[in-house]
Amino acid sequence: MLYRSTRGAPDRLDFRGVTLAGLAPDGGLYLPEAWPELSQQDIADLAGLDYAETAARVLAPFVGDSLTAEELRSLTRAAYARFDHAAVVPLKQLDQRQWLLELFHGPTLAFKDVALQLLGLLFERFLTGTDRHITIVGATSGDTGSAAIDAVAGRENLSIVMLHPAGRVSDVQRRQMTTVIADNVHNVAIDGSFDDAQAMVKRMFGDPDVTGHLTLSAVNSINWARLAAQVVYYFYAAVRLGAPHRPVAFSVPTGNFGDVFAGYVAARMGLPVARLVVATNVNDILHRALAQGDYSAGIVTPTATPSMDIQVSSNFERLLFDLGGRDGAAMAAQMAGFESTRAMRLTNAQREGASALFTSAAIDGPAMAGALRWAWESAGELIDPHTAIGLAAARADDGDPAIPMVTLATAHPAKFGDAVERASGRRPVLPGRVGNLFDREERYVSLPGDYAAVRDFVLRHGGA
Ligand SMILES: *Cc1c(COP(=O)(O)O)cnc(C)c1O
Repeated sequence: MLYRSTRGAPDRLDFRGVTLAGLAPDGGLYLPEAWPELSQQDIADLAGLDYAETAARVLAPFVGDSLTAEELRSLTRAAYARFDHAAVVPLKQLDQRQWLLELFHGPTLAFKDVALQLLGLLFERFLTGTDRHITIVGATSGDTGSAAIDAVAGRENLSIVMLHPAGRVSDVQRRQMTTVIADNVHNVAIDGSFDDAQAMVKRMFGDPDVTGHLTLSAVNSINWARLAAQVVYYFYAAVRLGAPHRPVAFSVPTGNFGDVFAGYVAARMGLPVARLVVATNVNDILHRALAQGDYSAGIVTPTATPSMDIQVSSNFERLLFDLGGRDGAAMAAQMAGFESTRAMRLTNAQREGASALFTSAAIDGPAMAGALRWAWESAGELIDPHTAIGLAAARADDGDPAIPMVTLATAHPAKFGDAVERASGRRPVLPGRVGNLFDREERYVSLPGDYAAVRDFVLRHGGA
């Protein structure tokens, strides 16, 4: 299996190469040259397998020769042993049609653990025995930072520098990052906004003073290995609801289009996915793109679902490339247009291709709260606000009621306790596994919102 950039660069990388590289050198995103297919029999054979084994089978064609089947299996076993539910990602039934797939049983209580726990192990495996050291630099508004730090703390040949906007992440989110005490983990509180921190990270990737000394890498969802790991749970859930013999629909609370793109990949691999509902909050660029062909970025409105407060969805480029006939030069031109005007129209091929599988909905605050209340009052399930966006869109969906509809539950409700309590009247309890979070020592440095100060910190602490 070889991978190519969405923007036409001629080089082809294997799985190991795309995992370590993250972004392609031409600014594009990596995709497999062709989609691997699982036959009906292959899918039927997943029935009854546990999550780690399902992951090893679904990931094998993407991994190719980069790992043996045995090596891959030992990594998926190690990654998912740290989840606190024996099913790893349990399914719950809410009513006749609606289901939840709980993806938040990992160490930091959000679905990002499902991919990042494996990604940390993959990085370590691919670097061990080489003389390479990789420095992961990222900016976080909360969930990605904690999941990434947990996944790489203490690992060989890797270090991580994570910037967060001082005072603008919740206490739980900050402590989940700053109480991880390991020599290769560096937390920095930046005096500024998330966008300021993100802009500094982007600048560092293009700064020869940094890239001349350190090999930088990213762990956001532009990394192909992260997306591949997310394909697994679509198979795992659908097989439990009757696939390959019965189709299943999914509703996905969406920000960067990573999680829902993984559902598209599962469909391309042969999973009978009846529909993918793209659920956004009022930051609705994806809803406008899918419903009207208008992909134009506005100004981010802060909501109770901060992980979806996004105006530009990086992974959408992967979908547009695949639907537009995989023409790298055309994709590069389309994205260059978007980057200069912050707006673009989808082509007819892209719109028609998308409408065959995707529907979309933009859910406002009251509708989110209504779905959260409904889950609690009629099914006894406390859900987080991001999940409630997905559930509101799922319940509004007009598809065949005989087809099960699975909403991806992306965060534990206790991560967003105030919003959950406001909508349901009930305060969610932090699970025992993060219990002494508030007694543990915190370690982080505070820096001004000044690029030179942050760059010097990374150069001093981010190396081997
Ligand atoms: C990151 C995140 C999302 C959005 O996922 P994307 O892959 O960016 O679409 C939704 N919910 C929660 C809780 C998240 O942390």
